Amino acid sequence: MKTNPTHPHPSGHGHATPVPRCPRRRPVGRFLLGLSLGLFGAAPFLPGAEVNLYTARHYPGDDALYERFEERTGIEVNVVDGKGDELLQRIRAEGEQSPADVFITVDAGRLWAAEEAGILQPVETMELLASVPSPLRDPDGLWYGLTKRARVIFYDRASVDPSELSTYEELADPRWQGEILIRSSSNVYNQSLLAAIIAEHGEAYAEQWAEGMVANFARKPQSNDTGQIRAVAAGLGDVAIANHYYYLRLMQSDNPEDQEIVEKVGMFFPNQESRGTHVNISGGGVVAGAENREEAIRFLEFLVSPEAQAVLADGNYEFPVNPDAPVPPYLSDYSFREDPLPASVIGEFNPEAIRIFDRAGWR
Ligand code: FE
Repeated sequence: MKTNPTHPHPSGHGHATPVPRCPRRRPVGRFLLGLSLGLFGAAPFLPGAEVNLYTARHYPGDDALYERFEERTGIEVNVVDGKGDELLQRIRAEGEQSPADVFITVDAGRLWAAEEAGILQPVETMELLASVPSPLRDPDGLWYGLTKRARVIFYDRASVDPSELSTYEELADPRWQGEILIRSSSNVYNQSLLAAIIAEHGEAYAEQWAEGMVANFARKPQSNDTGQIRAVAAGLGDVAIANHYYYLRLMQSDNPEDQEIVEKVGMFFPNQESRGTHVNISGGGVVAGAENREEAIRFLEFLVSPEAQAVLADGNYEFPVNPDAPVPPYLSDYSFREDPLPASVIGEFNPEAIRIFDRAGWR
């Protein structure tokens, strides 16, 4: 496997990762070509086969997973990692010269942006269609979900009883004035959450909701998702919205300060009596004009296999998209109703969501 230098933070999917640098060569696959009679049977790929992956997802477990793919197929995986938006722009700028075969990023909003930028090509195989439920993939096969994340409510256990919580919609009620912690509207996670509200209730309602939320803010939007959870623990507000895995990270941490935060803050899955909790995905697709198209498809098929799904999900405390994949034990406690809204629809409403945030004064 070729990969660029180890990035500065071992977890997270690129929120603060520098621009991709020169790849460093770390070949694994070729030595193990003889062992490639695995999951996929005899590999039809010749020595020297490779796939170039541009990814905004990078966890220690991911590297081991790529190595496993190399062992199985003899296809060498060359990794370039960076932030999703930067990689997208890079593929766009490289145009037909781009070595990228597979693009992986997080959030339906960013997958939609990749689709709009024309950097992906349609791919449909039995394996991909059977492994990824239809709401979690593009209807035209441009991208496929790889992992699922829930955007949930966090609350101060000392001042809020979970019975007082119900829906995202209800958080815009004046009763929460001065109590809501949430990051900026420039963050794609919030754009996708608002997109889901537009899809459910329409534009006018969504704007009212955004205005109600702004009126209830405990502080000017700042920091990241973990920052909102920490702020609840610090008593800056009673409730926050953030992705579930940031809390799971704190739960799995050995740091006593993180443990203290988990003790003070509860996690609540909203909208269980209605459409379900908002879920989003990380996902990927085959790059338009990919030189190694077949290898790219085989790689995506591997990533959605139950075996790889277990590793991908575990790397960031996320849920697998493949229903046949095992759910990590610490996540099996959290069974909840998911909003069945297709990820493609979340993407389509992204520009509308940005306009509404702007009008509502959510900075
Ligand atoms: Fe994240």
